[in-house]
Amino acid sequence: MNGHSERQPDPKIIDLLAKEPENIAHVSLEYFPPRTDQGVKNLHARMDRMLANTKCLYTDMTWGAGGSTADLSLDLALHAHKTGHVSNMHLTCTNMEKDGDPIKAVHDALRTAYDGGIRNIVALRGDPPEGEKEWTATEGGFTCALDLVKYIRKNFGDDFGVSVAGYPEGHPNRISQLSEKEIANMSEAEKGRCCTHDGITYVCKDEDYKKEMDYLKEKIDAGADFIITQMFFDAEVFKTFVKDCRTWGINCPVVPGLMCINAYPGFKKMTKFCKTRVPKSLEDKMDSMKDDPEAVKAFGVEFGAEICRSLLDSGSKILHFYTLNLEKVVYGITDELGITSGLIEESNESDAKDMVAVGSAWARVGDTVKFSAGQGVVKEIKSDGAAVVEVDGKDVEVAKGSYEKVF
Ligand SMILES: Cc1cc2nc3c(=O)[nH]c(=O)nc-3n(C[C@H](O)[C@H](O)[C@H](O)COP(=O)(O)OP(=O)(O)OC[C@H]3O[C@@H](n4cnc5c(N)ncnc54)[C@H](O)[C@@H]3O)c2cc1C
Repeated sequence: MNGHSERQPDPKIIDLLAKEPENIAHVSLEYFPPRTDQGVKNLHARMDRMLANTKCLYTDMTWGAGGSTADLSLDLALHAHKTGHVSNMHLTCTNMEKDGDPIKAVHDALRTAYDGGIRNIVALRGDPPEGEKEWTATEGGFTCALDLVKYIRKNFGDDFGVSVAGYPEGHPNRISQLSEKEIANMSEAEKGRCCTHDGITYVCKDEDYKKEMDYLKEKIDAGADFIITQMFFDAEVFKTFVKDCRTWGINCPVVPGLMCINAYPGFKKMTKFCKTRVPKSLEDKMDSMKDDPEAVKAFGVEFGAEICRSLLDSGSKILHFYTLNLEKVVYGITDELGITSGLIEESNESDAKDMVAVGSAWARVGDTVKFSAGQGVVKEIKSDGAAVVEVDGKDVEVAKGSYEKVF
Protein backbone atom coordinates (compact mmCIF):
# COMPACT_ATOMS: atom_id res chain seq x y z
CA MET A 1 0.00 0.00 0.00
CA ASN A 2 1.23 3.48 -0.87
CA GLY A 3 2.25 5.47 2.20
CA HIS A 4 0.10 8.41 1.18
CA SER A 5 -3.15 6.51 0.64
CA GLU A 6 -4.33 7.04 4.23
CA ARG A 7 -4.47 10.81 3.71
CA GLN A 8 -7.60 12.54 4.91
CA PRO A 9 -9.84 14.05 2.23
CA ASP A 10 -8.82 17.56 1.20
CA PRO A 11 -10.37 20.56 2.93
CA LYS A 12 -12.53 22.82 0.77
CA ILE A 13 -10.58 25.73 -0.66
CA ILE A 14 -13.34 28.19 0.17
CA ASP A 15 -12.88 27.27 3.86
CA LEU A 16 -9.11 27.69 3.59
CA LEU A 17 -9.56 31.10 1.99
CA ALA A 18 -11.90 32.17 4.79
CA LYS A 19 -9.47 30.99 7.48
CA GLU A 20 -6.29 32.61 6.19
CA PRO A 21 -5.36 35.91 7.80
CA GLU A 22 -5.82 38.97 5.57
CA ASN A 23 -2.25 40.14 5.86
CA ILE A 24 -0.47 37.07 4.49
CA ALA A 25 -0.13 36.59 0.74
CA HIS A 26 -0.72 33.07 -0.51
CA VAL A 27 -0.17 31.40 -3.81
CA SER A 28 -1.91 28.65 -5.71
CA LEU A 29 -0.17 26.90 -8.59
CA GLU A 30 -1.67 25.50 -11.76
CA TYR A 31 -0.14 22.75 -13.89
CA PHE A 32 -1.23 20.87 -16.99
CA PRO A 33 -0.70 17.23 -18.03
CA PRO A 34 2.58 16.96 -19.93
CA ARG A 35 2.83 15.17 -23.24
CA THR A 36 5.41 12.49 -22.40
CA ASP A 37 5.90 9.92 -19.62
CA GLN A 38 9.16 11.61 -18.77
CA GLY A 39 7.24 14.89 -18.52
CA VAL A 40 4.85 13.30 -16.03
CA LYS A 41 7.79 12.12 -13.88
CA ASN A 42 9.33 15.58 -14.05
CA LEU A 43 6.02 17.16 -13.13
CA HIS A 44 5.63 14.95 -10.05
CA ALA A 45 9.05 16.12 -8.91
CA ARG A 46 8.36 19.77 -9.73
CA MET A 47 5.01 19.72 -7.90
CA ASP A 48 6.68 18.22 -4.81
CA ARG A 49 9.40 20.85 -4.85
CA MET A 50 7.08 23.75 -5.48
CA LEU A 51 4.71 22.69 -2.70
CA ALA A 52 7.59 22.39 -0.24
CA ASN A 53 9.09 25.69 -1.35
CA THR A 54 6.05 27.93 -1.71
CA LYS A 55 3.57 26.24 0.68
CA CYS A 56 0.99 26.83 -2.03
CA LEU A 57 -2.53 26.83 -0.60
CA TYR A 58 -3.85 24.58 -3.35
CA THR A 59 -2.78 23.04 -6.65
CA ASP A 60 -4.77 23.05 -9.88
CA MET A 61 -4.54 20.38 -12.56
CA THR A 62 -6.12 21.28 -15.88
CA TRP A 63 -8.39 19.01 -17.88
CA GLY A 64 -6.83 18.77 -21.35
CA ALA A 65 -8.50 20.61 -24.21
CA GLY A 66 -11.31 18.57 -25.71
CA GLY A 67 -11.22 16.09 -22.84
CA SER A 68 -7.96 14.86 -24.37
CA THR A 69 -6.24 14.10 -21.09
CA ALA A 70 -9.18 12.96 -18.96
CA ASP A 71 -7.42 9.94 -17.44
CA LEU A 72 -4.08 11.67 -17.02
CA SER A 73 -5.68 14.79 -15.51
CA LEU A 74 -7.54 12.63 -13.02
CA ASP A 75 -4.37 10.63 -12.19
CA LEU A 76 -2.35 13.78 -11.69
CA ALA A 77 -5.04 15.44 -9.56
CA LEU A 78 -5.24 12.28 -7.42
CA HIS A 79 -1.46 12.15 -7.22
CA ALA A 80 -1.46 15.76 -6.02
CA HIS A 81 -3.90 14.88 -3.24
CA LYS A 82 -1.91 11.79 -2.22
CA THR A 83 1.33 13.73 -2.05
CA GLY A 84 0.08 16.46 0.26
CA HIS A 85 -1.43 19.09 -2.05
CA VAL A 86 -4.96 20.39 -1.73
CA SER A 87 -5.95 19.30 -5.20
CA ASN A 88 -8.20 21.53 -7.31
CA MET A 89 -9.21 19.38 -10.25
CA HIS A 90 -10.45 21.06 -13.43
CA LEU A 91 -13.29 19.30 -15.21
CA THR A 92 -14.81 20.24 -18.54
CA CYS A 93 -17.98 19.27 -20.38
CA THR A 94 -16.20 18.57 -23.68
CA ASN A 95 -16.25 15.01 -25.06
CA MET A 96 -17.63 13.46 -21.87
CA GLU A 97 -19.82 10.86 -23.51
CA LYS A 98 -19.23 7.27 -22.32
CA ASP A 99 -21.17 4.04 -22.96
CA GLY A 100 -23.73 6.03 -24.94
CA ASP A 101 -24.43 8.33 -22.00
CA PRO A 102 -23.51 11.98 -22.79
CA ILE A 103 -22.45 12.80 -19.24
CA LYS A 104 -21.31 9.49 -17.77
CA ALA A 105 -17.63 10.39 -18.02
CA VAL A 106 -18.29 13.51 -15.93
CA HIS A 107 -20.11 11.53 -13.29
CA ASP A 108 -17.41 8.84 -13.19
CA ALA A 109 -14.63 11.43 -12.95
CA LEU A 110 -16.39 13.14 -10.03
CA ARG A 111 -16.96 9.82 -8.26
CA THR A 112 -13.33 8.70 -8.74
CA ALA A 113 -12.07 12.09 -7.58
CA TYR A 114 -14.28 11.95 -4.49
CA ASP A 115 -13.26 8.37 -3.65
CA GLY A 116 -9.62 9.44 -3.98
CA GLY A 117 -10.00 12.27 -1.46
CA ILE A 118 -10.37 15.22 -3.84
CA ARG A 119 -12.90 17.77 -2.61
CA ASN A 120 -12.40 20.70 -5.00
CA ILE A 121 -13.45 20.99 -8.63
CA VAL A 122 -13.11 23.79 -11.17
CA ALA A 123 -16.29 23.46 -13.24
CA LEU A 124 -15.69 24.49 -16.85
CA ARG A 125 -17.32 24.20 -20.22
CA GLY A 126 -13.99 23.64 -21.97
CA ASP A 127 -12.56 24.65 -25.30
CA PRO A 128 -13.52 22.90 -28.55
CA PRO A 129 -11.80 19.56 -29.23
CA GLU A 130 -9.01 19.08 -31.74
CA GLY A 131 -9.87 20.25 -35.21
CA GLU A 132 -13.05 22.13 -34.22
CA LYS A 133 -13.42 25.87 -34.04
CA GLU A 134 -16.79 26.14 -32.29
CA TRP A 135 -17.79 24.47 -29.04
CA THR A 136 -20.85 22.28 -29.54
CA ALA A 137 -22.72 20.34 -26.88
CA THR A 138 -23.24 16.59 -27.30
CA GLU A 139 -26.93 15.79 -27.53
CA GLY A 140 -28.25 15.41 -24.01
CA GLY A 141 -24.93 16.63 -22.61
CA PHE A 142 -24.04 19.80 -20.77
CA THR A 143 -24.15 23.03 -22.74
CA CYS A 144 -22.01 25.20 -20.47
CA ALA A 145 -20.20 25.38 -17.15
CA LEU A 146 -23.44 26.47 -15.45
CA ASP A 147 -24.95 23.04 -16.26
CA LEU A 148 -21.93 21.35 -14.68
CA VAL A 149 -22.15 23.44 -11.50
CA LYS A 150 -25.85 22.56 -11.23
CA TYR A 151 -25.10 18.88 -11.87
CA ILE A 152 -22.44 18.74 -9.15
CA ARG A 153 -24.70 20.43 -6.61
CA LYS A 154 -27.71 18.25 -7.53
CA ASN A 155 -25.86 14.94 -7.53
CA PHE A 156 -23.04 15.50 -5.05
CA GLY A 157 -24.56 18.11 -2.73
CA ASP A 158 -21.81 19.79 -0.72
CA ASP A 159 -19.31 17.00 -1.27
CA PHE A 160 -17.18 19.29 -3.39
CA GLY A 161 -16.03 22.87 -3.22
CA VAL A 162 -16.65 24.31 -6.70
CA SER A 163 -14.91 27.17 -8.47
CA VAL A 164 -15.60 28.63 -11.91
CA ALA A 165 -13.79 30.69 -14.53
CA GLY A 166 -14.27 34.46 -14.74
CA TYR A 167 -13.19 36.68 -17.63
CA PRO A 168 -12.22 40.26 -16.66
CA GLU A 169 -12.01 41.23 -20.35
CA GLY A 170 -15.00 39.10 -21.39
CA HIS A 171 -14.88 35.54 -22.74
CA PRO A 172 -13.05 35.43 -26.11
CA ASN A 173 -16.33 34.32 -27.79
CA ARG A 174 -17.84 37.62 -26.75
CA ILE A 175 -14.91 39.80 -27.79
CA SER A 176 -15.53 41.44 -31.15
CA GLN A 177 -13.50 43.20 -33.77
CA LEU A 178 -14.29 46.92 -33.93
CA SER A 179 -14.78 49.17 -36.94
CA GLU A 180 -13.09 52.60 -37.08
CA LYS A 181 -16.39 54.19 -36.08
CA GLU A 182 -16.85 51.83 -33.13
CA ILE A 183 -13.30 52.52 -31.97
CA ALA A 184 -14.03 56.24 -31.95
CA ASN A 185 -17.23 55.69 -29.95
CA MET A 186 -15.95 53.28 -27.29
CA SER A 187 -17.23 53.91 -23.76
CA GLU A 188 -14.72 54.54 -20.97
CA ALA A 189 -15.27 50.99 -19.69
CA GLU A 190 -14.63 49.56 -23.17
CA LYS A 191 -11.47 51.64 -23.50
CA GLY A 192 -10.28 50.09 -20.25
CA ARG A 193 -10.57 46.49 -21.50
CA CYS A 194 -10.03 46.72 -25.28
CA CYS A 195 -6.97 45.26 -26.97
CA THR A 196 -5.18 45.54 -30.28
CA HIS A 197 -3.50 42.66 -32.07
CA ASP A 198 -1.98 42.92 -35.56
CA GLY A 199 -3.51 46.38 -35.94
CA ILE A 200 -7.06 45.16 -35.21
CA THR A 201 -8.90 46.45 -32.15
CA TYR A 202 -11.14 44.11 -30.18
CA VAL A 203 -13.37 44.56 -27.16
CA CYS A 204 -16.12 42.83 -25.24
CA LYS A 205 -18.76 45.50 -25.84
CA ASP A 206 -20.65 46.84 -22.85
CA GLU A 207 -23.86 44.98 -23.78
CA ASP A 208 -21.91 41.71 -24.11
CA TYR A 209 -19.95 42.33 -20.92
CA LYS A 210 -23.26 42.73 -19.13
CA LYS A 211 -24.37 39.32 -20.46
CA GLU A 212 -21.07 37.83 -19.25
CA MET A 213 -21.60 39.24 -15.77
CA ASP A 214 -25.24 38.08 -15.64
CA TYR A 215 -24.09 34.60 -16.62
CA LEU A 216 -21.25 34.61 -14.08
CA LYS A 217 -23.78 35.53 -11.40
CA GLU A 218 -25.85 32.52 -12.47
CA LYS A 219 -22.83 30.24 -12.04
CA ILE A 220 -22.29 31.55 -8.50
CA ASP A 221 -25.99 31.41 -7.64
CA ALA A 222 -26.05 27.80 -8.84
CA GLY A 223 -23.53 26.92 -6.14
CA ALA A 224 -20.00 27.87 -7.18
CA ASP A 225 -17.91 29.06 -4.21
CA PHE A 226 -15.36 31.28 -5.89
CA ILE A 227 -13.96 32.53 -9.18
CA ILE A 228 -10.52 32.08 -10.75
CA THR A 229 -9.91 34.53 -13.55
CA GLN A 230 -8.55 34.26 -17.02
CA MET A 231 -5.06 35.74 -17.37
CA PHE A 232 -4.71 39.49 -17.68
CA PHE A 233 -1.73 41.84 -17.94
CA ASP A 234 -3.38 45.06 -16.82
CA ALA A 235 -4.06 45.12 -13.08
CA GLU A 236 -6.72 47.80 -13.57
CA VAL A 237 -8.80 45.38 -15.65
CA PHE A 238 -8.87 42.93 -12.74
CA LYS A 239 -9.69 45.61 -10.19
CA THR A 240 -12.59 46.87 -12.32
CA PHE A 241 -13.82 43.28 -12.72
CA VAL A 242 -13.84 42.73 -8.95
CA LYS A 243 -15.80 45.98 -8.49
CA ASP A 244 -18.23 44.90 -11.20
CA CYS A 245 -18.68 41.52 -9.50
CA ARG A 246 -19.69 43.31 -6.31
CA THR A 247 -22.08 45.56 -8.27
CA TRP A 248 -23.65 42.43 -9.76
CA GLY A 249 -24.08 40.93 -6.28
CA ILE A 250 -21.25 38.43 -6.79
CA ASN A 251 -19.66 38.58 -3.36
CA CYS A 252 -17.44 35.48 -3.38
CA PRO A 253 -13.63 35.54 -3.56
CA VAL A 254 -12.23 36.43 -6.99
CA VAL A 255 -8.78 34.90 -7.39
CA PRO A 256 -6.54 36.58 -9.98
CA GLY A 257 -5.13 34.15 -12.57
CA LEU A 258 -1.57 35.21 -13.43
CA MET A 259 0.12 33.98 -16.56
CA CYS A 260 3.87 33.77 -16.02
CA ILE A 261 5.77 35.44 -18.85
CA ASN A 262 8.29 32.75 -19.74
CA ALA A 263 8.98 33.17 -23.44
CA TYR A 264 8.26 35.67 -26.20
CA PRO A 265 6.57 33.34 -28.76
CA GLY A 266 4.22 31.84 -26.16
CA PHE A 267 3.29 35.27 -24.84
CA LYS A 268 2.51 36.60 -28.32
CA LYS A 269 0.53 33.53 -29.29
CA MET A 270 -1.54 33.26 -26.11
CA THR A 271 -2.39 36.96 -25.93
CA LYS A 272 -3.50 36.93 -29.55
CA PHE A 273 -5.47 33.70 -29.19
CA CYS A 274 -7.28 34.90 -26.05
CA LYS A 275 -7.52 38.51 -27.34
CA THR A 276 -5.89 39.69 -24.14
CA ARG A 277 -5.27 43.35 -23.45
CA VAL A 278 -1.54 44.05 -23.53
CA PRO A 279 -0.63 47.55 -22.33
CA LYS A 280 1.52 49.40 -24.90
CA SER A 281 4.47 49.63 -22.51
CA LEU A 282 4.40 45.84 -22.01
CA GLU A 283 4.10 45.16 -25.72
CA ASP A 284 7.05 47.45 -26.54
CA LYS A 285 9.18 45.92 -23.82
CA MET A 286 8.41 42.36 -24.96
CA ASP A 287 9.12 43.25 -28.61
CA SER A 288 12.45 44.74 -27.63
CA MET A 289 13.52 41.42 -26.06
CA LYS A 290 12.11 38.99 -28.56
CA ASP A 291 15.51 37.45 -29.41
CA ASP A 292 16.72 37.26 -25.83
CA PRO A 293 14.96 34.43 -23.92
CA GLU A 294 16.88 35.02 -20.68
CA ALA A 295 15.97 38.72 -20.68
CA VAL A 296 12.31 37.76 -21.22
CA LYS A 297 12.37 35.49 -18.15
CA ALA A 298 14.04 38.18 -16.05
CA PHE A 299 11.42 40.66 -17.19
CA GLY A 300 8.70 38.06 -16.50
CA VAL A 301 9.80 38.17 -12.86
CA GLU A 302 9.94 41.98 -12.73
CA PHE A 303 6.58 42.45 -14.43
CA GLY A 304 4.95 39.61 -12.46
CA ALA A 305 6.11 41.02 -9.13
CA GLU A 306 4.86 44.48 -10.06
CA ILE A 307 1.38 43.31 -11.04
CA CYS A 308 1.18 41.06 -7.95
CA ARG A 309 2.10 43.94 -5.64
CA SER A 310 -0.63 46.01 -7.17
CA LEU A 311 -3.17 43.19 -6.67
CA LEU A 312 -2.11 42.55 -3.08
CA ASP A 313 -2.35 46.28 -2.35
CA SER A 314 -5.89 46.29 -3.69
CA GLY A 315 -6.99 43.41 -1.42
CA SER A 316 -6.18 40.13 -3.16
CA LYS A 317 -5.16 37.50 -0.62
CA ILE A 318 -4.13 34.83 -3.04
CA LEU A 319 -2.25 34.83 -6.33
CA HIS A 320 -3.00 32.01 -8.74
CA PHE A 321 -0.07 31.30 -11.06
CA TYR A 322 -0.39 29.58 -14.41
CA THR A 323 3.05 27.98 -14.01
CA LEU A 324 3.20 26.44 -17.51
CA ASN A 325 4.80 23.53 -15.61
CA LEU A 326 7.92 25.65 -15.00
CA GLU A 327 9.31 27.19 -11.84
CA LYS A 328 11.85 29.93 -12.45
CA VAL A 329 9.52 32.87 -13.02
CA VAL A 330 7.14 31.81 -10.21
CA TYR A 331 10.07 31.55 -7.79
CA GLY A 332 11.43 34.88 -8.98
CA ILE A 333 8.09 36.54 -8.31
CA THR A 334 7.52 34.93 -4.90
CA ASP A 335 11.11 35.84 -3.93
CA GLU A 336 10.51 39.45 -4.99
CA LEU A 337 7.30 39.56 -2.99
CA GLY A 338 9.04 38.17 0.10
CA ILE A 339 6.77 35.08 0.15
CA THR A 340 9.89 32.95 -0.42
CA SER A 341 13.57 33.66 -0.38
CA GLY A 342 16.45 32.70 -2.68
CA LEU A 343 14.43 30.17 -4.68
CA ILE A 344 15.22 31.61 -8.09
CA GLU A 345 18.89 30.69 -7.63
CA GLU A 346 17.89 27.07 -7.01
CA SER A 347 15.45 26.84 -9.91
CA ASN A 348 16.20 24.24 -12.54
CA GLU A 349 14.33 24.11 -15.83
CA SER A 350 16.60 21.71 -17.69
CA ASP A 351 13.52 19.48 -18.09
CA ALA A 352 11.53 22.17 -19.96
CA LYS A 353 11.28 20.37 -23.28
CA ASP A 354 9.42 17.46 -21.65
CA MET A 355 6.94 19.72 -19.87
CA VAL A 356 4.94 20.70 -22.95
CA ALA A 357 1.20 20.08 -22.72
CA VAL A 358 -0.71 17.24 -24.29
CA GLY A 359 -2.61 18.80 -27.14
CA SER A 360 -0.23 21.69 -27.56
CA ALA A 361 1.00 19.98 -30.69
CA TRP A 362 -2.48 20.41 -32.15
CA ALA A 363 -2.66 23.10 -34.70
CA ARG A 364 -5.37 25.71 -34.79
CA VAL A 365 -6.22 28.27 -37.44
CA GLY A 366 -3.39 30.82 -37.58
CA ASP A 367 -0.68 28.41 -36.36
CA THR A 368 2.41 27.72 -38.42
CA VAL A 369 2.80 24.03 -39.29
CA LYS A 370 5.41 22.02 -41.15
CA PHE A 371 4.82 18.95 -43.27
CA SER A 372 6.72 16.91 -45.86
CA ALA A 373 6.37 19.53 -48.61
CA GLY A 374 7.17 22.60 -46.54
CA GLN A 375 5.79 25.01 -44.01
CA GLY A 376 2.79 27.35 -43.92
CA VAL A 377 -0.03 28.86 -41.92
CA VAL A 378 -3.24 26.93 -41.13
CA LYS A 379 -6.32 28.53 -42.71
CA GLU A 380 -8.85 25.87 -41.83
CA ILE A 381 -9.08 22.59 -39.93
CA LYS A 382 -11.56 20.20 -41.51
CA SER A 383 -13.86 17.93 -39.54
CA ASP A 384 -11.60 14.92 -40.35
CA GLY A 385 -8.59 16.78 -38.89
CA ALA A 386 -7.03 17.64 -42.27
CA ALA A 387 -5.56 21.14 -42.38
CA VAL A 388 -5.81 23.65 -45.19
CA VAL A 389 -2.38 25.26 -45.12
CA GLU A 390 -1.41 28.39 -47.01
CA VAL A 391 2.06 27.92 -48.50
CA ASP A 392 3.49 30.70 -50.66
CA GLY A 393 0.01 32.06 -51.38
CA LYS A 394 -1.45 28.64 -52.33
CA ASP A 395 -3.78 26.45 -50.27
CA VAL A 396 -2.61 22.89 -49.68
CA GLU A 397 -4.70 20.25 -47.89
CA VAL A 398 -2.61 18.15 -45.52
CA ALA A 399 -4.04 15.00 -43.91
CA LYS A 400 -4.44 14.70 -40.14
CA GLY A 401 -1.27 13.40 -38.53
CA SER A 402 0.92 14.56 -41.43
CA TYR A 403 1.55 18.07 -40.15
CA GLU A 404 3.22 19.28 -37.02
CA LYS A 405 2.92 22.59 -35.27
CA VAL A 406 6.02 24.79 -35.31
CA PHE A 407 6.62 26.41 -31.92
C1 LIG B 1 -9.39 29.63 -14.60
C2 LIG B 1 -9.57 28.90 -15.90
C3 LIG B 1 -9.26 27.56 -15.98
C4 LIG B 1 -9.43 26.85 -17.17
N1 LIG B 1 -9.09 25.52 -17.23
C5 LIG B 1 -9.32 24.81 -18.35
C6 LIG B 1 -9.07 23.40 -18.41
O1 LIG B 1 -8.63 22.80 -17.44
N2 LIG B 1 -9.34 22.75 -19.57
C7 LIG B 1 -9.85 23.39 -20.67
O2 LIG B 1 -10.08 22.73 -21.70
N3 LIG B 1 -10.09 24.72 -20.64
C8 LIG B 1 -9.85 25.44 -19.52
N4 LIG B 1 -10.12 26.79 -19.49
C9 LIG B 1 -10.61 27.45 -20.71
C10 LIG B 1 -12.14 27.34 -20.80
O3 LIG B 1 -12.52 26.00 -20.92
C11 LIG B 1 -12.58 28.12 -22.02
O4 LIG B 1 -12.39 29.50 -21.82
C12 LIG B 1 -13.98 27.82 -22.50
O5 LIG B 1 -14.14 28.40 -23.80
C13 LIG B 1 -15.09 28.37 -21.61
O6 LIG B 1 -15.19 27.69 -20.44
P1 LIG B 1 -16.08 28.30 -19.24
O7 LIG B 1 -16.14 27.31 -18.17
O8 LIG B 1 -15.64 29.65 -18.93
O9 LIG B 1 -17.48 28.35 -20.01
P2 LIG B 1 -18.87 28.96 -19.63
O10 LIG B 1 -18.87 29.52 -18.27
O11 LIG B 1 -19.89 27.95 -19.95
O12 LIG B 1 -19.00 30.20 -20.62
C14 LIG B 1 -18.53 30.19 -21.97
C15 LIG B 1 -19.12 31.35 -22.73
O13 LIG B 1 -20.43 31.04 -23.09
C16 LIG B 1 -21.34 32.00 -22.56
N5 LIG B 1 -22.51 31.25 -22.06
C17 LIG B 1 -22.53 29.93 -21.80
N6 LIG B 1 -23.75 29.56 -21.42
C18 LIG B 1 -24.50 30.64 -21.39
C19 LIG B 1 -25.83 30.88 -21.06
N7 LIG B 1 -26.66 29.91 -20.69
N8 LIG B 1 -26.26 32.14 -21.11
C20 LIG B 1 -25.45 33.12 -21.50
N9 LIG B 1 -24.17 32.95 -21.85
C21 LIG B 1 -23.70 31.72 -21.80
C22 LIG B 1 -20.58 32.66 -21.42
O14 LIG B 1 -21.06 33.94 -21.15
C23 LIG B 1 -19.21 32.68 -21.99
O15 LIG B 1 -19.09 33.71 -22.92
C24 LIG B 1 -9.93 27.53 -18.31
C25 LIG B 1 -10.23 28.90 -18.24
C26 LIG B 1 -10.04 29.58 -17.06
C27 LIG B 1 -10.34 31.05 -17.01
